[in-house]
Parts: sequence; C-alpha cells; structure tokens
Amino acid sequence: MVYFKIVDAWQEAVNSRTVYKFKLELIENAQSFTAVVKQEIKIEHNRLIPPQVKLTVWQRDKGRCVVCGSTDDLHFDHIIPFSKGGSSLVSENIQLLCARHNIAKRDKIE
Ligand SMILES: [Zn+2]
Repeated sequence: MVYFKIVDAWQEAVNSRTVYKFKLELIENAQSFTAVVKQEIKIEHNRLIPPQVKLTVWQRDKGRCVVCGSTDDLHFDHIIPFSKGGSSLVSENIQLLCARHNIAKRDKIE
C-alpha cells in the first residue's frame, strides 16, 4: 500500500483567485501513517479543519462550489456549524462553497 501524508496546506492568491495548495509526503509504512493521523486529530480539538480532511473534501467536491460549481474564491464550510456541534474532523461535515454561497448560508443560519 502507498499512502500520502499531507504535511502542509495553504492558500495562495493567483491572478486574484484563491488557490488551495497541499504538500504531500509519500509514506510507505501504513502503520506510521495511522500514527500520524491519530496524532494530528488529537491536536485538532477546535474548529480548524485538519489538512487531510480538506484534501478529501477538495477531491470529493472536485475543487468546485457544491452549489454553483464555481472555482473562484472557495471556502471550506461546515455543513453542521461548529458552533452547533458539527465536527471539523470528518469530511462528511465539510463542503466547498464559493464566497457568495458561503456568505448566503451564513446569513441564513446565523
Ligand atoms: Zn457557489
């Protein structure tokens, strides 16, 4: 089995667009991969979304807003808000939204 560990994730502004970038590290030993993931999840007891969840969501949603398909100004959005008990640690609770739909949703909920 071959695994990749996400060692870093960041946003870059490219031609006035926000682009998410991930740095991956190849891991050949599955046991060490499991250990790394457990360690990172332990640290993340807050609303920050761990890089490996962001990557899963990004790939699942194909780098597009789930509402309109826009690839501009995307944000990771909690489907169930963190303030209402939604988890940052599971990709099922995170989706990609463009700024327009992210703000529209925020107005509706809060
Ligand atoms: Zn949208």
